[in-house]
Amino acid sequence: MTIFSRIVAGEIPSYMVAEDELFYAFLDINPVAEGHTLVIPKLEVDYFFDESDGMIAAHMQFAKRVAQAIKKAIPCTKVGVAVMGLEVPHSHIHLIPMQTEGDMDFRKEHLKLTPEEMQAVCDKIAAAFE
Ligand code: 5GP
Repeated sequence: MTIFSRIVAGEIPSYMVAEDELFYAFLDINPVAEGHTLVIPKLEVDYFFDESDGMIAAHMQFAKRVAQAIKKAIPCTKVGVAVMGLEVPHSHIHLIPMQTEGDMDFRKEHLKLTPEEMQAVCDKIAAAFE
């Protein structure tokens, strides 16, 4: 079981911004920008492109709704999208509010937000989710 499946199961806490039967969106614990969100399938799949065609479409469509909520909740020019990273073997779409292209740079120093700040960001995005 991946750490993300344990989050979906509620064994590990997360700042959940949205979910449906198939997908779960929550704040990245080590954000590169305020509002950095991960969108994962509840079904455990390691590699994004191993998802079925229908699942990739549904995953992206759910991510789109989450991105629209992020755009409303967090001041930004666009919400960037990345499928990358090798750390957690559970497919995830990174959604990152962008003011500049540098905001998508994972090598730069990540933000250190307090639990209260994370909760406030989470609440704003969750409230904007339709
Ligand atoms: P990647 O596989 O994309 O390299 O890394 C996984 C991403 O998930 C990273 O951005 C990391 O900060 C995030 N992450 C790893 N473990 C946890 C966790 O337990 N909770 C949350 N919310 N995010 C995590």
